[in-house]
Amino acid sequence: MVEEFAFDNADERRKVRQNGTGWIEVIAGSMFSGKSEELIRRLKRARIARQKVQVFKPQIDARYSIEEIASHSGQKHDSIPVANTAEMLGHVQHDTEVIGIDEGQFFDMAIIDAVNTLAASGKRVIIAGLDQDYTGRPFEPMPQLLSIAEFITKTHAICVKCGSTANYSQRTVESEARVEVGAADKYEARCRQCFIPHADSPTLHD
Ligand code: ADP
Ligand code: ZN
Repeated sequence: MVEEFAFDNADERRKVRQNGTGWIEVIAGSMFSGKSEELIRRLKRARIARQKVQVFKPQIDARYSIEEIASHSGQKHDSIPVANTAEMLGHVQHDTEVIGIDEGQFFDMAIIDAVNTLAASGKRVIIAGLDQDYTGRPFEPMPQLLSIAEFITKTHAICVKCGSTANYSQRTVESEARVEVGAADKYEARCRQCFIPHADSPTLHD
């Protein structure tokens, strides 16, 4: 971010990176809030700066092309599908400067140590993910990733009911599975007033 553009000269930037200036950026919000769009925008800029970029997504998200991350608005970026954090680490190349991760909420808890280690080794790590599940409950490991990130961006959608700022992903089909992969066919963006917590929501019973 600011640091990235403080150096005009690519060699100088590389030297500083080798001195250990990696960091973590998290982009978090509801469905349709523009997380993937923002991630793709940052990755494209890194590539324009001729940095080596690697992008990963969990295999569970098979909504779109397996080899790409995609936004609801149709933007795309190449990515490597991985089953878990260990597999992702196995793909990371030593000279990669920027690592993008989409759908961070579908990773295992090992992602927390992994991104800390990658940032400590000088890499810029950018993770996008849902910060709440369909009941409005924090969606691990995103809360932990938000805690350790140097930079956090919260994105918002537009409530489909009233046009306000939406912070929730309302599930519109009957299912009580935490992971129910889908897009506009199964979810819609809602604001706090229009969001109806699911009957099994812990927020109703705590
Ligand atoms: P996310 O990764 O957060 O799910 P995407 O980046 O995939 O979001 O998609 C964002 C795009 O979704 C917007 O630019 C817009 O074109 C589209 N969109 C569809 N429904 C909504 C909505 N309710 N609010 C905002 N954007 C929406
Ligand atoms: Zn609303």
